Amino acid sequence: MPTGSGVLVVGEVDASGAPRPISWEVLAAAKSVAGVAGGGVTALLMGSGIADAARAWGSAGADRVLTADAPEFAGLLPAVAAAAVTEAIQRTNPAVVLMPGTTSGRDYAPLVAARLKAGLAADCVELHEADGTLTATRPVLGGRALTRVTFPDSQPAMITIRAGSFAKAGPGATSPEVEPFVVTLAPDDLRVSMVELAAKGAVGSRLDSAAVVVSGGRGLKEPANFALVEELAESLGGAVGATRAVVDAGWRPHHEQIGQTGRTVSPRLYVAVGVSGAVQHNVGMQGSEQIVAINRDPDAPIFKIASFGIVGDLFEVVPALTAAIRDARS
Ligand SMILES: Cc1cc2nc3c(=O)[nH]c(=O)nc-3n(C[C@H](O)[C@H](O)[C@H](O)COP(=O)(O)OP(=O)(O)OC[C@H]3O[C@@H](n4cnc5c(N)ncnc54)[C@H](O)[C@@H]3O)c2cc1C
Repeated sequence: MPTGSGVLVVGEVDASGAPRPISWEVLAAAKSVAGVAGGGVTALLMGSGIADAARAWGSAGADRVLTADAPEFAGLLPAVAAAAVTEAIQRTNPAVVLMPGTTSGRDYAPLVAARLKAGLAADCVELHEADGTLTATRPVLGGRALTRVTFPDSQPAMITIRAGSFAKAGPGATSPEVEPFVVTLAPDDLRVSMVELAAKGAVGSRLDSAAVVVSGGRGLKEPANFALVEELAESLGGAVGATRAVVDAGWRPHHEQIGQTGRTVSPRLYVAVGVSGAVQHNVGMQGSEQIVAINRDPDAPIFKIASFGIVGDLFEVVPALTAAIRDARS
């Protein structure tokens, strides 16, 4: 194990200033490895105007909360976030650093590792401790295989956590001190600045935090038929997602793409409509609590990971489902 002690856990907030769902997961992961890390849990939250969010988030298990709270941290630009995390590591000397495997985390975590000349186990789905050794498990080859990573020489053990891999910690477990963490930003860290933060569209921008996601694939035949997916999503109060096949075809915007080269989501309910279930799609949604698949091919791979499967023509099944949900809700 590395020679430092304790865990540094990094959290992020969404555009509304609330902790992202994965922030609660990384905190739960931090608590699970605090023993092997031989110390407490220090939590670092980055954003602008985040004092209340930091207090609530940190109370889910941190012993100490640091807030990098300044306008420069809004939007979490990679160099600025990397500067904050690097400085927090240098000041707290943790044995283990856990970061969210978000789009931002995938940008800043490798920068931090490079600056510290440490290794990085990215996109981990499990952490184990045996005989005082920490092991992280991460999927490779598009989810077809798992590798186990140990950290004999790295200082510290740097890990990003894939969304949906850990149960979320709940607030109220601890009453940590919340301390402002003033970061020294070099001119190079500020070469890129945020000019404007604009919503990508009401539906797509909600994908990360939506409790329900309804995704459509090539089975919808043409872009206009995505109205069926939108209506089902609307009836469930959910967000719309898409496969790469339909994004590449120009039917849907890229920010709706779920999968290896798109977003990772872990809603309570994921409905896959006319989606075959290619491994590259599944890695982005298989952490969902319940998966419902609608496909006319009984052998479609999506049924292997579905909690509930409907074998049928989506053009019959989806309108009937939407009507039944609307009836039940009215
Ligand atoms: C390096 C790499 C990265 C990739 N990254 C991603 C990624 O991030 N996300 C992603 O999604 N894909 C990704 N892909 C592509 C992936 O391999 C698949 O090609 C893609 O997911 C298939 O999309 P689909 O399910 O919409 O289409 P298809 O595979 O064509 O499936 C369509 C499904 O619709 C069903 N269907 C057809 N008509 C009906 C009907 N009337 N009623 C009900 N069902 C019907 C069919 O039975 C079929 O199962 C990647 C591929 C590579 C090589």
